[in-house]
Amino acid sequence: TEFGIDARLVLNATGPWTDHLRAMEDKAAAPSVRLSKGAHLVLRRTSPWKAALATPIDKYRITFALPWEDMLLLGTTDEEYEGDPREVSVTDSDVTQILDEAAFSVRDQQLSRDLITYSFAGLRVLPGGPGDTSKAKRETVVSEGPGGMLSVAGGKWTTFRHIGRTVIDKLSKLPGRPLTEDMEPMRSLPRMPLPGIANPQAVAHRLLVDGPAPGPRMAPDTARHLATHYGSLAFDIARLANEDPSLAERIHPDAPEIRAQIVYARDREWAETAEDVLRRRTTLTVRGLDTTEVRDDVAKLLADRPS
Ligand SMILES: Cc1cc2nc3c(=O)[nH]c(=O)nc-3n(C[C@H](O)[C@H](O)[C@H](O)COP(=O)(O)OP(=O)(O)OC[C@H]3O[C@@H](n4cnc5c(N)ncnc54)[C@H](O)[C@@H]3O)c2cc1C
Repeated sequence: TEFGIDARLVLNATGPWTDHLRAMEDKAAAPSVRLSKGAHLVLRRTSPWKAALATPIDKYRITFALPWEDMLLLGTTDEEYEGDPREVSVTDSDVTQILDEAAFSVRDQQLSRDLITYSFAGLRVLPGGPGDTSKAKRETVVSEGPGGMLSVAGGKWTTFRHIGRTVIDKLSKLPGRPLTEDMEPMRSLPRMPLPGIANPQAVAHRLLVDGPAPGPRMAPDTARHLATHYGSLAFDIARLANEDPSLAERIHPDAPEIRAQIVYARDREWAETAEDVLRRRTTLTVRGLDTTEVRDDVAKLLADRPS
């Protein structure tokens, strides 16, 4: 279906699809970015693990072995990608490469394929240019098309505020598009704290001490999980669990998440599908715990969305 939208400006922030959108505006647009595939593995741990290991593979690339929750995160690879972004996936040779490279610093018994609970691959968006993608700078690419579409791509999650400010500055300089008053506060974004920012230890302590009375106290692993994932917003989740004890129950017995997080994801985090909850808002899928039972439970709670 085709439809029109009136807008003062079209901002293209479609990551790996940036150049597809630019080609829709201008068929002759030269590519502005290159894509590099990165794959990761998540494994169950065979013993407690606290260290974050960064092992240099060559002059440019490092492989990581990081404690993540009570699991181990390994990777990443870095390989130029020219296919359809929708089709990016982890191949058997990615798995072999990641395990082989991890073996430089991790014991073999921790690197068995049976321990893998999840694998994922993504596409880094890098400035165009010659040479290996592993050597390319992780910079943001901003470009403007003949129809006035502004494209912004690349960079890092950790630089998103800087990227936002770059875009706002660019917008303020477009002819005939002065910075309006409602955009002005966005310039000070880098100084605004993130929602829920708080000391996780202090939040976990309060969750444990102020647990639902007279019901059972919150489990320490759940309190830690809520505090580190939501900061002070964890108190909103604890309130849901206090009001309805069935929401204080775990989603799966082997993970710290509680059912109140499903309701929170549904009502406050725009979760629409079981996958949104299990893969994107909680750790269940990555832990390999998104069983049929768990999916049915999530689907039931999502269907109960207040109108
Ligand atoms: C393997 C890997 C590891 C990384 N590790 C780190 C790290 O450790 N630290 C860090 O800071 N950064 C890391 N990054 C980089 C980080 O993921 C990116 O910088 C960030 O995701 C870029 O955000 P974005 O919003 O520009 O693009 P994206 O996150 O790619 O979002 C673009 C969105 O646009 C949507 N879209 C596409 N086409 C259309 C369309 N036509 N209409 C509407 N929507 C559309 C897509 O579905 C997608 O949701 C890593 C990236 C990869 C691939």
